[in-house]
Amino acid sequence: MKSALITGITGQDGAYLGKLLLEKGYRVAGIVPRRSTSSLWRLDYLDITDEIDLMDGDILDPASIMRAIRASKPTELYHLAAQSFVASSWNQSLLTAQSTGIGVLNVLEAIRGTNPDIRMYQASSSEMFGKVEKSIQDEETKFYPRSPYGVSKVFGYWMTKNFRESFDMFASNGILFNHESPLRGLEFVTRKVSHAVARIATGKQKELRLGNLAAKRDWGFAGDYVEAMWLMLQQDRPDDFVVATGRTETVEELCRVAFDYVGLNYKDYVVVDPKFYRPAEVDLLLGNPEKAKRQLGWTTKTSFEQLVHMMVEADIVRERLAP
Ligand code: NDP
Ligand code: GDP
Repeated sequence: MKSALITGITGQDGAYLGKLLLEKGYRVAGIVPRRSTSSLWRLDYLDITDEIDLMDGDILDPASIMRAIRASKPTELYHLAAQSFVASSWNQSLLTAQSTGIGVLNVLEAIRGTNPDIRMYQASSSEMFGKVEKSIQDEETKFYPRSPYGVSKVFGYWMTKNFRESFDMFASNGILFNHESPLRGLEFVTRKVSHAVARIATGKQKELRLGNLAAKRDWGFAGDYVEAMWLMLQQDRPDDFVVATGRTETVEELCRVAFDYVGLNYKDYVVVDPKFYRPAEVDLLLGNPEKAKRQLGWTTKTSFEQLVHMMVEADIVRERLAP
């Protein structure tokens, strides 16, 4: 029986990946950092909490990672844990460097020190491209990160590549473009919009305050993207892959599609608030998923419109159920 250990199991991708691996017959374990309140809501939402072996651990605590590896004996380790919100990375730059950057090295060293045959997936990010040099980005595009988050991800990317080349480890980088779902954190713009639309439609909120409406992102569905993570670890050789839809939309268009779905005009509700501008912006992300398509046989299955509608729908259900 194949077994996987997932860091970041309680996050958006961890939950979808856990579900996918369980469906594929894996034994799945996950590292959960101690929090003052339960962080299992996403696993509960997908109804998989009881099927996962949850282990106390933190990527800033290498001994806890080693213990989790020894106890769960994974054949594959998916390293998803990170401080993942770009905007917070300026306010918590050192923490971001520690968890999003050094955390990767902690995991690589833990694998090297326990069982170097474990295959590792590193959650790299399109934020590494940042101030893009090409209007469409692929595996050859130069990195120019624009935030402490992006800089930390570049560190993790190169460490993963370096351990692969230095110690012959099976360690692959997935360079994933933005991917969203009803399980996305409320601070990210897609979920902030879908949540606000649901609250406005149910009479609980009057306006939606946003920052830069002109930013363009290549948005896909997280449920599709975790499949690419798994495929990367089933290859004969480790490698790095861009995972994207190949389509980019503005934040403004996101608003239009989301409000349209409930029969409202976004212009009546969206207010631009400079509080949400960033010290340095990534203006355009658009990925070329050709290599993933060719070598992994992976393609995105969910359109931008389907994704936005799915998120608004899920938030409307939640708002109707909420007291
Ligand atoms: P989330 O923010 O939803 O999940 C992050 C997870 O990491 C949470 O389970 C969180 O736990 C955990 N975590 C944070 N700090 C620690 C720590 N010190 N020790 C152990 N666990 C920790 O992110 P996503 O699921 O969206 O993303 C998964 C990965 O993919 C991240 O590395 C992210 O940077 C990367 N990525 C995401 C993209 C996206 O669009 N979603 C795009 C490209 C890359 P808790 O909630 O308790 O803090
Ligand atoms: P990111 O691409 O990982 O930073 O994902 P986000 O969802 O946080 O942000 C995507 C884009 O939306 C960025 O260019 C933001 O500047 C822009 N944006 C505009 N208004 C907001 C807002 O209110 N919140 C967030 N999170 N992003 C916003």
